[in-house]
Amino acid sequence: MNISHQSAHQHDISAFSRGLYIDGEWRPSGSGELIEVVDPSTEAVIAAVPDATLEDAAAAVEAAARAAAGWRETAPRKRSEILRRCFELMVERSEMLATLISLENGKALRDARGEVAYAAEFFRWNAEEAVRITGEYAIAPGGTNRIVVDHQPIGICVLITPWNFPAAMATRKIAPALAAGCTVILKPASETPLTAFALAALYEEAGVPPGVVNVLTTSRPGPLTAAMLADPRVRKLSFTGSTGVGRVLLAEAAKNVISCSMELGGNAPFIVFDDADLEAALDGAMIAKMRNAGEACTAANRIYVQSGIYQAFAEGLRSRMAALRVGAGVDSATECGPMITRRAVEKLDRLVTDAVSRGAQVLCGGVVPEGSGFFYPPTVLSDVPADAEMAHEEIFGPVAPLSRFDSEDEVIAKANDTEYGLVAYIYTRDLARGMQVGSKIEAGMIALNRGLVSDPAAPFGGMKQSGLGREGGQHHGIAEFLEMKYFAASF
Ligand code: NAP
Repeated sequence: MNISHQSAHQHDISAFSRGLYIDGEWRPSGSGELIEVVDPSTEAVIAAVPDATLEDAAAAVEAAARAAAGWRETAPRKRSEILRRCFELMVERSEMLATLISLENGKALRDARGEVAYAAEFFRWNAEEAVRITGEYAIAPGGTNRIVVDHQPIGICVLITPWNFPAAMATRKIAPALAAGCTVILKPASETPLTAFALAALYEEAGVPPGVVNVLTTSRPGPLTAAMLADPRVRKLSFTGSTGVGRVLLAEAAKNVISCSMELGGNAPFIVFDDADLEAALDGAMIAKMRNAGEACTAANRIYVQSGIYQAFAEGLRSRMAALRVGAGVDSATECGPMITRRAVEKLDRLVTDAVSRGAQVLCGGVVPEGSGFFYPPTVLSDVPADAEMAHEEIFGPVAPLSRFDSEDEVIAKANDTEYGLVAYIYTRDLARGMQVGSKIEAGMIALNRGLVSDPAAPFGGMKQSGLGREGGQHHGIAEFLEMKYFAASF
């Protein structure tokens, strides 16, 4: 495997580590301590951001509380125009933002560009939704009164995001929260804080008032989050990350009965029936598996192929995966960037070794390369047995495990044999079968003859232990940040 390297010092990123963003100001942390940011392509330290203390977190909640009344009373049209401006500024700066994402996350520039476009869309979509928050009106069945239902901003929101989509996971929460009239504190992942700070500067320029969005980075997410959730003014926790951390946060939020939205892990089945369009299924598999080098909650984690098409599909996938160009994220020729950390590479190595020890065959890849950077090669495994660890854990990397199936009932049972339920992919030319199988699969999203489901206009989210609530979609994403109030009115 040839790996191309390009170093971070060709890019000036000091502007994005100016400080914590609290109350419209950039400030150092109370302790003066820093968190180092590493370029996964080179392992070089490229920046350092402040490590917030409990006092910094309290200041952020205080700032969000001070800004709350002004922002909720700002006319929806005005809020909408500010969000629209955020969209425009993101589009204008998309190349800079994509480069920054590639540097701190390692993802290929083409994936980073796709992420920026997707992330910006949440501002455009929610600018349009901000002026369409409606209520309900009815006559009580007994005729005694009217039932009037109003929707109000839920209050101060704590938003916690992962490293795999540093821009999109933040805007998918901030845009609907602001559209709803809420103020927020964002805690981005420690590996990828620079994008969150670059976006904070952009919101300020778009006219978001001080205190409406605050951004904190910390190496102690547990205690800081607990302290913020203990403040009775905080009424919402919106989290995207692993199911394990999600469970811990649900327990923490229970103490003050805080409303929670949870976008958690996945274990997506990718099902190819004999009658599928082979080329379309291969194209879809490459997107579903390799967007972000496999570091996506929606990544195809178990690829089930019907026996009649299995050999052709396996060979097609092997040749496409083996041809991918692996390299530094910021190198524009790169198709598969590095993993986020050395630990992630070690996990992939463990999962592949385990599958092979249980009888899987390596069709390509499967060997950790030497040298700097957290690289793992695009890998295809054939005949992965159901008891392999990777069938039950998120792989989160460029490893495609193939298994055969014969009947529809068999593959539905296999697809549902997981505690996760985020997304499932189905390829068949028989649309009735696609809909029937999709309706029996326990997942919040079904991709039918497509390798991609993410769309700000559609409700994104999972069933079972993949989460609670939805992001995006008509009204659904904003509804997570609204509280219902019912008036029983006699007149
Ligand atoms: P993670 O380890 O759960 O971390 C996510 C965020 O939670 C980070 O900001 C992290 O901060 C913070 N965190 C960790 N422990 C915490 C605690 N005790 N209290 C409060 N916050 C805490 O997940 P990740 O490795 O960053 O991301 C990968 C996971 O996210 C995968 O499971 C993936 O499926 C999931 N994901 C889901 C979706 C979805 O929409 N369903 C989308 C993207 C990713 P630090 O960085 O400082 O540890």
